[in-house]
Amino acid sequence: MLNLSDIYAARQRMSGVAVATPLVASALSGPAGEEILLKLEILQPTGAFKLRGAANAVAAHVAAACESGVVSVSTGNHGRAVAYAARRLGIRAVICLSNLVPEGKAAAIAELGAEVRRIGRSQDEAQREADRLIADEGMIGISPFDDPLVVAGQGTIGLELLEARPDLACIVIPLSGGGLAAGVALAAKSIRPDIRIVGVSMDRGAAMHDSIRAGHPVEVEEVPSLADSLGGGIGLDNRLTFALCRALIDDIVLVSEQEIYDGMRALYARDRLVAEGASAVGHAALLAGKLDLGSPAAFLITGRNVDMGQFSAVIAGERLSFGNVQVGGGGHA
Ligand SMILES: *Cc1c(COP(=O)(O)O)cnc(C)c1O
Repeated sequence: MLNLSDIYAARQRMSGVAVATPLVASALSGPAGEEILLKLEILQPTGAFKLRGAANAVAAHVAAACESGVVSVSTGNHGRAVAYAARRLGIRAVICLSNLVPEGKAAAIAELGAEVRRIGRSQDEAQREADRLIADEGMIGISPFDDPLVVAGQGTIGLELLEARPDLACIVIPLSGGGLAAGVALAAKSIRPDIRIVGVSMDRGAAMHDSIRAGHPVEVEEVPSLADSLGGGIGLDNRLTFALCRALIDDIVLVSEQEIYDGMRALYARDRLVAEGASAVGHAALLAGKLDLGSPAAFLITGRNVDMGQFSAVIAGERLSFGNVQVGGGGHA
């Protein structure tokens, strides 16, 4: 089973590709001195934390991957990270994307020299194409979350957080497949068992939340969302992140599309950060009064790869539709 030494090994392997990121004060820090800190993973060279896990996994598999290449399924940021890490080592990468992944994210992956395949309307459909390439062409599959090397890579954030602030009371983590939360929680609780870990997911298709409540991995319907990076299931045959998240996350909070919209606006207006919806779920939950934080608390600002047209519309307060849900307009400030 994965442990702290795997996370230190990941830090060695990913260095020179992924960077250590700053932890800065948020404007949302409380008037009575409650500190909220932001971990700026938006400063990774690919714009999201996923470079940590991808760099670790690609480097660990380098010998086999040079022969046969690597293949990944992605909501966008993992694919970009794998493409980036593979290119640095001269390895072929194929990235399978569902048609829900925004075009800007697909284009960025292609620009890094990876081969992009668009398949179906869900992560599961894209996964079937990746499984085929692994079986038929012997490519090395790198899961966006359910892989020990990926979890260990994401866990390096936990090391950095506690090195910067050994007194941290709480970490607020955007939650989808759970590779990020599992890795960070494993690192942080190995060092400081009393630290509180809060996951935040969107309320439509909260796969890890629903799975933990059911006691086993369950399928969720995948719908368009402002937090597009949080889409997709955890895999019915989940090997690693379900058990780790169930054991290590203290609380999971769900936020609505309107709350994510308001969170993105606060992240920009108050903290002056350009970030995608998935990065704003902590702000969303805080503004909605859904978080019970200790101080200091760290929010992971996970990615900046937002479609600029969508971002401008959110900041301008325009009305947007996601499936049958409408957000914005109507005087929301
Ligand atoms: C992938 C991703 C997440 C969620 O990470 P998981 O390991 O799937 O839980 C959060 N934010 C961004 C920007 C992401 O790309």
